[in-house]
Amino acid sequence: MPLYTSPHSSMTRILEIAQLGAPVIRERAAEITDIHDPQLQTLIDDLLVTVADEHGMGIAAPQVSVSRRIIILAPKPNARYPYAPTMEPTAMINPELTWSSSEMDKDWEGCLTVPGIRGLVPRHRTIRVRYQTREGVGLETEYDGFLARVFQHEVDHLDGLVFLDRVETTHDLVTEHEWQKVIAQRCQP
Ligand code: ZN
Repeated sequence: MPLYTSPHSSMTRILEIAQLGAPVIRERAAEITDIHDPQLQTLIDDLLVTVADEHGMGIAAPQVSVSRRIIILAPKPNARYPYAPTMEPTAMINPELTWSSSEMDKDWEGCLTVPGIRGLVPRHRTIRVRYQTREGVGLETEYDGFLARVFQHEVDHLDGLVFLDRVETTHDLVTEHEWQKVIAQRCQP
């Protein structure tokens, strides 16, 4: 059975976001072995359109109910993340951490799958990562700070984890409404 079928393979689509409670969010996603499959390439296009439409910093395939190891990193500053760096939206196939610093940073995260909640999440400050491009080329690179955080958040989705699982205490969870006040203070000159 194909894991993903698009009724309009030549058209990109904005896909529905699976929310916490949907079983797919807690599954371990399957490795990709068929990068050149046209359906997989269509899925990547759909993920790129969907993350842009949702103003996400990234997205993982399980978030659109496809349990396969694909993530998109697409950070750019917006009202939800005014301090984000800008990076050309990038699809990563079978992404993995090959090294992570012992130094951790705590910062705010949200998630399209967990609407209305923000959490202060510890992440490795610097990481080395390996993935394949959508053309099937293997790459290794290093990220730190915000990009390292987004990568770790998205790869967690491939292992059935969400940021709520990473907070040190539930007291580090706030509503979106309260978080806006935190960000407004942080962005004052
Ligand atoms: Zn997420």
